[in-house]
Parts: sequence; structure tokens; C-alpha cells
Amino acid sequence: MSEFRLGDVIDDHCIKCRRITNHSIVSLVNSAPAKVRCRTCYHDHDYRHEQAPPSKKELKKAELFKEVLSAAAPGSDGVAPEESTKPVKKARNKKA
Ligand SMILES: [Zn+2]
Repeated sequence: MSEFRLGDVIDDHCIKCRRITNHSIVSLVNSAPAKVRCRTCYHDHDYRHEQAPPSKKELKKAELFKEVLSAAAPGSDGVAPEESTKPVKKARNKKA
């Protein structure tokens, strides 16, 4: 691939058009497209390498998966290690 230039037309996935459309490069980072503008609806967005963004369904699935992981592996947040390791002595007031 040759070098990209501002204004070059490249294919990318437009979330507004929901398909691959022609885009103009509006921003370059390290001579790679960073931001592009859809030539159909003129929507600016980050260049996403022609990848469709994950659908809401997929995002929901990923969220659930994360929840399951955190539930299966406690200790990373909120659980005090003392409580599980030290035997709890119950101080009872014995009436002699
Ligand atoms: Zn578009």
C-alpha cells in the first residue's frame, strides 16, 4: 500500500450508513488514517479499518461474560482477606 494522504478516498464502514462506503481521510496519525469522513452522509468518525462496530447484542454478551468472570473470581474488589483466613472468635460473656 502506498502512503495515505489527507483527502484520499478509502473504504470504511460507516455506522450511519451501516455499510462500507467511500470515505475521505480527514486526519492522519503516523501516515495511517485516523479519522475519516463518509462521502455519503459526511459523518466524521475514527477510521475503523472497514470493521463494523460490535452490535448491541454482542456488547451485551460481552458485559454478561465480564459479570460472570468477576462473580467466579472474587477477591479483586471488596473482599477483605482477613475475614476468610482468620477464625472468628466469638466473645461470649459467660456468666460464672
Ligand atoms: Zn455514512
